[in-house]
Amino acid sequence: MSKNIAFIGLGNMGAGMAANLVKTGFSVTAFDLLPAALEAAAASGCDTASSAIEAVAGAEVIVSMLPNGQIVEDLYIHQDKLLDAIDNSALVIDCSTVAPANARAMIAAASERGIAAIDAPVSGGVAAAAAGSLAFMCGGEESACAAAKPILEAMGANIFRAGEAGAGQVAKICNNMLLAIHMTGTAEALQLGMDNGLDPAVLSEIMLKSSGCNWSLEKYNPVPGVMEGVPANNNYQGGFMVDLMLKDLGLAMEASLASKSSTPMGAAARNLYNLHKNNGAADNGSMDFSSIAEFYKR
Ligand code: NAD
Repeated sequence: MSKNIAFIGLGNMGAGMAANLVKTGFSVTAFDLLPAALEAAAASGCDTASSAIEAVAGAEVIVSMLPNGQIVEDLYIHQDKLLDAIDNSALVIDCSTVAPANARAMIAAASERGIAAIDAPVSGGVAAAAAGSLAFMCGGEESACAAAKPILEAMGANIFRAGEAGAGQVAKICNNMLLAIHMTGTAEALQLGMDNGLDPAVLSEIMLKSSGCNWSLEKYNPVPGVMEGVPANNNYQGGFMVDLMLKDLGLAMEASLASKSSTPMGAAARNLYNLHKNNGAADNGSMDFSSIAEFYKR
């Protein structure tokens, strides 16, 4: 496995992903704006570059894991003009969560230069990135998605092709909107039970074997003391931050506006998470998203 990979954006997610590429035998050249992120990448076996342009020189595959769509467009198209420095036989895989429109803009600009590119956002948090068990939802031409598969398999357990350019982002937005809806619903039902004298552990056990069963209840119970090893049992630290859920719900609302879809449940979940973020003296944005249970608490 000798492919040269440039990896840009070695934050909470990218660090583990790049380390897994190295473990699989790829040669990885990393770039991040933060020196500390680059030092950590070097410690996990990556070569480091002093700019994104330097990182992509000679790269056969470019993987990026960046905070938002503006940064992705600025990096590839507008500011750094990275696409102009990438060999046209290379493959670009952007794993950042961005609006479908950002993904389509980057992929179209790549295509104009004869470069194959796909969007491949992930499901699974920092722990899954470190463990190499992410799910990738790909959008782009079939041949490009097929070429990306061996790279993505080094970082994930499930690789899907959702459709054409931007389709991976649409799948990601739909999934996370549903996640927010069933998490808020689960917290709401458990609080209703507690307000009426039920033990949340007993109620959870009942609903797990009844028609209210869902992923949040099964894997991520939001009430402290019900389930081992979940953020609810660790003061809602670790896991998936409220701020990131708000970002994804914002993208879902933008997408629903663009397609004139009705998403009343998603809109309610977004508002609930916004209220929760700003509820109380401290900003709750860095708490795990299951902390929405606190918002329902009397
Ligand atoms: P992060 O902020 O920890 O990491 C982003 C990294 O990108 C930072 O190290 C930053 O310095 C770097 N960066 C920013 N602009 C850059 C540029 N122009 N050039 C090079 N490096 C640059 O974010 P994260 O938690 O790793 O998330 C990354 C992406 O993954 C986001 O789009 C997020 O929505 C998505 N995501 C995150 C999670 C999660 O649980 N954290 C889960 C699924 C998806």
